[in-house]
Amino acid sequence: MFHPNDTLQHIRQNKGLWDLYTRKEEYSPRQLDRYGRFLYAYSTNQDVLEPRVSKHLVDNGYEIEYPDGKQFAVCLTHDVDEIYPPRKHTLLSTLTCFKRLDFGGFKQQTFWKLHGKEKSPYWNFQGIMDLEEKYGARSSFYFLATDSDIRRFRYNIEDLEGELGRIVDRGWEVGLHGGYYAYNDLEEILREKERLEQVLGRRVTGYRNHYLRFCVPDSWEILEKAGFGYDTTLGYPDMVGFRNGMCHPFRPYNLRTDTEVSILEVPMIIMDGTLFDLVRSYDEAWEMTKRLIDTVADCQGVLTLNWHTNNFNCPFRGSWPRLYENTLEQCYRKGAWMASGNEVLRWWHYNGR
Ligand SMILES: [Zn+2]
Repeated sequence: MFHPNDTLQHIRQNKGLWDLYTRKEEYSPRQLDRYGRFLYAYSTNQDVLEPRVSKHLVDNGYEIEYPDGKQFAVCLTHDVDEIYPPRKHTLLSTLTCFKRLDFGGFKQQTFWKLHGKEKSPYWNFQGIMDLEEKYGARSSFYFLATDSDIRRFRYNIEDLEGELGRIVDRGWEVGLHGGYYAYNDLEEILREKERLEQVLGRRVTGYRNHYLRFCVPDSWEILEKAGFGYDTTLGYPDMVGFRNGMCHPFRPYNLRTDTEVSILEVPMIIMDGTLFDLVRSYDEAWEMTKRLIDTVADCQGVLTLNWHTNNFNCPFRGSWPRLYENTLEQCYRKGAWMASGNEVLRWWHYNGR
């Protein structure tokens, strides 16, 4: 019988898997990109489409049960980078609507400001929740609560107070999308967390950093100290797949202190922009997605998606929401449990992991 406490023991038996699992190569990276990120391009593990560590565990008897006897899980998440379209988006969207003779869309993209902030095309949370509800799914929305960003001012979280209430009232999650400067700064994370909690009127447990900026193992330690329950930043900005070979949530291991960090990492597997950067057509994107769904389902894992909210209403990225809906439909048919990050966290706790 495989006891959850034996997980580390099983991975340690294989040095290659242990190094992959702990992200050893990220402790002293030879190279980072201009945003300070460790990329897939720099990794010695190019076999990123195989969840090698999870497979090893499953082969050794690791088992997970999901609610209602479901066979695998999908964790649905959304980074909320934009609430008001930047000028470039407005230009591209209006041009696209115009070319398609979509005058309703054209009007919405051009004149929303006349009708108030909440008429912004990117103020679309209820529509996204309606779509997910059709498939019995729920998701997490990660909001920015910082006022400093390398690019420009994005939005005031205080403007969204009513909307945040409506999101949690429906049973969806509001989490923190840590700002560009937050991932290695405990005080900054605490400031942003407190600001979001002030507006929300309740505790926040879920986290993903903007730009996927992340430092192994420091970010995990900081997030634990800040009181988060889980993080879902660990995925590559330049590749889909399994950054540490896991398609199951796990407690990260800190090689410097030789201890587990008391936070749950729910590894991010597919991000919208990354996926579409990798392929030449919608069909290719769909093929890759189906492959990842099957891989995770075979391991009884958790497929974590990150679909930015603005991309549901970007006419110039018209096929992106279509791929999201097809994924929900496919996973629904395959009998997945589709949940928010917070629900995954609660389920892992409930199962004593
Ligand atoms: Zn972001």
